[in-house]
Amino acid sequence: MSTNRLDRNIVVLGGMGVGKSTAIQRFLKNEFSEAHYPTVSNTYNKKISVGEREYNLTITDTAGQDETSILDPSFAGSTDVYVIAFSVAYRKSFEIAKIVREKILDISGVESVAMVLVGNKSDLKQDRQVSRNEAEELATKFNCPYIETSAKENSNIEELFIRSVKIANKARGDDDV
Ligand code: GDP
Ligand code: MG
Repeated sequence: MSTNRLDRNIVVLGGMGVGKSTAIQRFLKNEFSEAHYPTVSNTYNKKISVGEREYNLTITDTAGQDETSILDPSFAGSTDVYVIAFSVAYRKSFEIAKIVREKILDISGVESVAMVLVGNKSDLKQDRQVSRNEAEELATKFNCPYIETSAKENSNIEELFIRSVKIANKARGDDDV
């Protein structure tokens, strides 16, 4: 068994309150919290197997963006894949997701980046403000996958991070996983 783990850097971005921190904590510890600490930004490590290979993920949680926030330019050089999250129950956060992608392209100076679009809070069925169709269309436009998650119900959270690794690999021309 190889002990050579591959490093992949994942940065999680998106509007405030969409569930970025909750989704990360769900993935790391399988915990859900109702609490919201808006300004916390942190970096975590987790080992994960995808296909035959092992990875050491570095996951950066961010404080959350809005129209006016400035992205940390240091993300540009060191990020393998961006996870851009919104809440399917809050339309404004869907609009913020588009703005965040523009900001990433700005700091990166490229026309496309490795990213996954995430619609979280899929459990809030009665409160849905963004349809799956609409989100899928946006993802098609961005040439990236769309995944619906619920950090609350632990739905698709692990899949999200596995998918992120695969997209990072693809961007590196490392297609065999
Ligand atoms: P962040 O600002 O994006 O990091 O958002 P948080 O992770 O702090 O979550 C904001 C609020 O949304 C908290 O009260 C969480 O408990 C709640 N939350 C997060 N994910 C979900 C989810 O999948 N479903 C529901 N119903 N609530 C969620
Ligand atoms: Mg947070």
